[in-house]
Amino acid sequence: MSEINRAVKGTNDILPGESGDWQFVEGKMLDTARLYGFEEIRVPVFEHTEVFSRSVGDTTDVVQKEMYTFDDKGGRSVTLRPEFTAGVVRSAIEHGLVNAALPVKVCYVGGCYRYEKPQAGRLREFHQFGVECIGAASPNADAEVIALARQVLDSIGIDDASLEINSIGCKKCRAEYYKALKEYFKSRSDELCDTCKDRLERNPMRILDCKSPVCGAIAADAPAVIDYLCDDCREHFNGVKANLEAAGIKYTVNPKIVRGLDYYSRTVFEFVSDKLGAQSTVCGGGRYDGLISQMGGPELPALGFAMGIERLMLVIKAKGVALPSKGGCELYIAAIGQKASLKATEICSVLRADGFSAQTDICARGLKAQMKYANKLGARFSAVLGDDEIESGKARVKNMATGEETEILLDNISAELLKLINSQALSELTDSLSE
Ligand code: ATP
Ligand code: MG
Repeated sequence: MSEINRAVKGTNDILPGESGDWQFVEGKMLDTARLYGFEEIRVPVFEHTEVFSRSVGDTTDVVQKEMYTFDDKGGRSVTLRPEFTAGVVRSAIEHGLVNAALPVKVCYVGGCYRYEKPQAGRLREFHQFGVECIGAASPNADAEVIALARQVLDSIGIDDASLEINSIGCKKCRAEYYKALKEYFKSRSDELCDTCKDRLERNPMRILDCKSPVCGAIAADAPAVIDYLCDDCREHFNGVKANLEAAGIKYTVNPKIVRGLDYYSRTVFEFVSDKLGAQSTVCGGGRYDGLISQMGGPELPALGFAMGIERLMLVIKAKGVALPSKGGCELYIAAIGQKASLKATEICSVLRADGFSAQTDICARGLKAQMKYANKLGARFSAVLGDDEIESGKARVKNMATGEETEILLDNISAELLKLINSQALSELTDSLSE
């Protein structure tokens, strides 16, 4: 296949048969966020490169290897967003949200871009839903944000992803920790990958997140940051756990979680699914108390999470969750002849104005071919219009699933169709209750 017939490696098309599920999932995300007071923010797909390199951190995989960075025609270095937090924080500072009523609570949905090795659950263009909460320091903010993630997952049928939490402390406690960590990794520095040899001096905690199996095995025996927390960070972490318990949210403490981006502090967490093999993290998040001031804003605490929608879709498929996607065509009107075709056009426009999904022939097909198409479409009801129907003002509407036919008045089409849809829904409900 030539290149114009093939999507770029690591990108996916979301096709008509799948987009209904995406709309359902994204709808649940935004609806659930609203219940917790988070409003949608839409930020640009690209930013000045420094927005990401400074915040995400120049010793991270994302900045070192994965960014789509290029000079635009005006010679500016711009980068396609590899994640949303940096752009959202830039926007919140630029537009003064951080100086208005606190906390700022925003959420987002959209595409992200990372030059990674494509595999199941790992793409170069992927989609995230996430939230950011700026200006809330207390541990019940952490629990609230985690509860929101949990409720989103529950609402799309992923009720078995396990929550793992950790605290990576603040600058104060990390000074002690870095000493211990450096000492440990120095003793095994010969075995580390080249990138990690460099990280050893600049940011030893990044080694804990290295994807190389050799570094991973060495990291497994490294000292854990949770054993080095200062009193304030320990108290905060205890508060997070107490609030999670109060909200009835199960968790396990996993001292190995450090997260892949530099801006995190204190609480970090992941939701992990056993349905995904290597790419098991469906949601990652935590606190980033230093980021707002680091980006030129006021000194404010903040936290958030992001979930990968493609990975969620894989879990939904693996679990066999049936999403209630919106129905397709509610009524297909087949027409015999020119006069009936005009009448069908008129009826369709009435139905659509009343909010029903209606279709008629737009390919000049014969009756048999029209009915075949109605079947392929999965239309719930169909009607045939010919001269007789136009004359009498009545037509027979067929339930495509049961074959049952009902006569209806064409003048009152929307109300008649609504009655049929409701009675079908009622009998489906009765059937499912008696099963
Ligand atoms: P990983 O360790 O799997 O590379 P990450 O720590 O880089 O993940 P984050 O930056 O925290 O991931 O992004 C949050 C979520 O976005 C991840 O938990 C995952 O669900 C999703 N995600 C990240 N990178 C990709 C990708 N390349 N393709 C698909 N989904 C991704
Ligand atoms: Mg990654």
